[in-house]
Amino acid sequence: MIVVCPHCMKKNNLPADVPVAEAQCGQCDQDLWSAHPIALNDDNFMHFVPNTEIPVFVDFWAEWCGPCKAMAPVFERLAAQYKTVQFAKVDTEVSPKLSQFFQIRSIPSLILFKQTTQLGRIAGAMNATQLESWLHQHKIQK
Ligand SMILES: [Zn+2]
Repeated sequence: MIVVCPHCMKKNNLPADVPVAEAQCGQCDQDLWSAHPIALNDDNFMHFVPNTEIPVFVDFWAEWCGPCKAMAPVFERLAAQYKTVQFAKVDTEVSPKLSQFFQIRSIPSLILFKQTTQLGRIAGAMNATQLESWLHQHKIQK
C-alpha cells in the first residue's frame, strides 16, 4: 500500500499487514499517519491525496469562518480516533486553486477522498455525532 509521508511528502510502500498508524517514513523516520489533521495546500494536495491509498478526509475552511472554527475541535478529536483515515485541512484563503477545482461554494465543506475519487462530500458545520454517523455511512470505521 502506498502512503505519502505527511512530513516530507515521500511516497512509502507499506506491506499490507502493517497498519499505517504504526508505520514510519523510510526517508524522514517520522510517523506516516498523523493523529492531528495535516495542512494541505495548492502545492502539496495533488501529490498527497492521489498518491495515498488510505482515505483522506479534508476540511475546507477559513480563518474568518465562525462555523469552521466551532467544528475544528471536533474534527481534531476525531482525527486521532480514525486510524485508517488521514484527516487534513485546506485553508481556502491560502489555497484558492483547490477551492475552485473542487467547487467549494460554502465552508466548512468536507470531502472524503480515496485517491482521485470523492467518496462523499458535505457542507456545513457538524457536531461529533453527525460527523461520525456520516463517516459510518461512508463505510469508514475507527
Ligand atoms: Zn517522511
